[in-house]
Amino acid sequence: MTYAQDRFAKVEIKTEKLTDNMYVLFGAGGNIGVLVGEDGVIMIDDQFAPLSEKISAAIAKISNQPIKYLLNTHWHGDHSGGNENFAKKGAMILAHQNVRKRMSEGMTRSPERVTPPAPEIALPVITFSDDLSLHLNGEDILAIHVHNAHTDGDAQMYFPKSNVLHTGDTYFKGRWPFIDIQSGGSIDGYIKAVNHALFLVDDETQIIPGHGSMSNRAELSAWRDVLATVRTRIKMAMSKGQSLADIKGSDVLKEWEDYGGGFINNETFIETVYKSLSGE
Ligand SMILES: [Zn+2]
Repeated sequence: MTYAQDRFAKVEIKTEKLTDNMYVLFGAGGNIGVLVGEDGVIMIDDQFAPLSEKISAAIAKISNQPIKYLLNTHWHGDHSGGNENFAKKGAMILAHQNVRKRMSEGMTRSPERVTPPAPEIALPVITFSDDLSLHLNGEDILAIHVHNAHTDGDAQMYFPKSNVLHTGDTYFKGRWPFIDIQSGGSIDGYIKAVNHALFLVDDETQIIPGHGSMSNRAELSAWRDVLATVRTRIKMAMSKGQSLADIKGSDVLKEWEDYGGGFINNETFIETVYKSLSGE
């Protein structure tokens, strides 16, 4: 058994009910949003391919309808890895146009980190540039593109009637976000995207972050303030002529040591913000 298989064999899919017809599924990878109803199941993101059977089983427990539409919040494999499996079962995949473009091209980040081009069946068949509305299960679903944030193909998925927002990876609750500069992401676009999410929601909105447990406006707002503060501090240090090494050695993130517990540690986050601000 390979490491990857073993890793997924132990993953359990946990379902949390949000409203009468909306659910969130936690497993490994990006959080999955699910809207059920007589028009069929609408799914937001699908984690990794080896989990597709477990995810299908979890969804079958909340609806006997087929998965009709699958929306990807962006192209990363921990959110779109199951596309091929769900498309084969008949799901129609929708996403921003850059999701299709990046998935079809693949990416070499380093010799050890190569994402091969996705097969045709895994690609979104309906793409959009700015936004898209879906009128299903009594809900007016809005998929809204935010520019150059986590990637260049992010969409925030808003369900106004249920008052639920799936932010995709424009929100990593309680930890530093991964800002994928190689995929067109940027710190300034990222903060704008968080502001956009804050503009959409109210105090009652249930927020599904890309990663982390369920959240709300107050938490997202506090997190935005952290990102904005860090951006300002790093910008200031750069304008004083400090190098990346100087800033990494400083106490610029001192209040948030615990934010570096995920796969983006404090040094990585400083480096990302520095590179994004210097346009490297
Ligand atoms: Zn991502």
